[in-house]
Amino acid sequence: MTPNPAIISVIGSLNVDLVSRTPRIPHAGETLTSTSFAIGWGGKGANQAVACARLSRSRNQAQNDADVQVRMVGAVGADEFHAGFLAALREDGVNVDRVQILEGKKTGVAVILVETHSGENRILVFPGANGEVKGKRDLVEGDEGVVLFQLELPVEVVLHNMKIARDRGAETILNPAPAIPLPNEAYQGLRHLMVNETEAALLSGIENPTSWDEVAAVFISRGVENVIITLGGEGVFYKTAKQQSESQKGHMVPALKVKVVDTTGAGDTFAGAYTVAVARWKAMAQGADFDLDAAIAHANRAASMTVQKAGAQSSIPWANEVPEA
Ligand code: ATP
Repeated sequence: MTPNPAIISVIGSLNVDLVSRTPRIPHAGETLTSTSFAIGWGGKGANQAVACARLSRSRNQAQNDADVQVRMVGAVGADEFHAGFLAALREDGVNVDRVQILEGKKTGVAVILVETHSGENRILVFPGANGEVKGKRDLVEGDEGVVLFQLELPVEVVLHNMKIARDRGAETILNPAPAIPLPNEAYQGLRHLMVNETEAALLSGIENPTSWDEVAAVFISRGVENVIITLGGEGVFYKTAKQQSESQKGHMVPALKVKVVDTTGAGDTFAGAYTVAVARWKAMAQGADFDLDAAIAHANRAASMTVQKAGAQSSIPWANEVPEA
């Protein structure tokens, strides 16, 4: 094990994706034969944990030798899926000691129907064990450099643990997906907020923004330090509280021009690459400023790899597969 590795905890969801492809979506009462079926390990929490682990080392490097250690914190059911799921996470280098296995509960499941010709999907999510991570439970261990959150666990769990992580001096990163309105306390002292366009509009309350600066300003006024708005094929906008206080504009980084196959997982890859950069800085810091520009540029390049391959977790690259600046 590398001495004093940077520790990332991802406090979030684990879902099994059951994906069927169909020529068309069946009507009520109708049975159709699907053209393919696949089981995938997913959930935003698990996907982002895998992204953190892969993006912290090269494909052939053991996670123990990496300078970053990644912990998944959440719950699965003691059912037919959990052993395979946890084994896959371990295989990717994610520590799963803090994933609870709940007797009598089911692992979260997303039943996904994909209409082949349009690529449109219909998704039904059963939270299962994710929904059992309840109340004001302390899931932060205290040795983390970074704690990464999404909103697929009950919101009170997320809010409580964001506060604990902040109080213990960890860098907090929130990717508020799926977006639900949050109380102001969610943003107070939040170091990094990472939203896509839809989440940015819903959470800022600005439906038709005239500029991303305007949207970022709302989050900064609520107490966020670094606001990152991912804009799909357009790239990324980001702005800091410091820029805001100095009346400077935020920055825009265009997406890389690549051949897009499937954008699923792009946001999770971006989150993983960015989180690893924050964790490395936090472990080394000693007074140096966080190089936000470099972290964003790196995450943008990492996410551009994901869109060139099909699948969610399967398209997340390892660090050595991300092109150099
Ligand atoms: P998803 O839910 O599909 O995982 P998201 O909606 O959370 O993604 P996006 O804003 O769509 O996030 O994409 C995240 C990042 O992925 C972008 O900021 C960019 O870096 C990269 N990306 C997305 N789409 C493209 C594209 N078409 N070409 C190149 N890069 C892309």
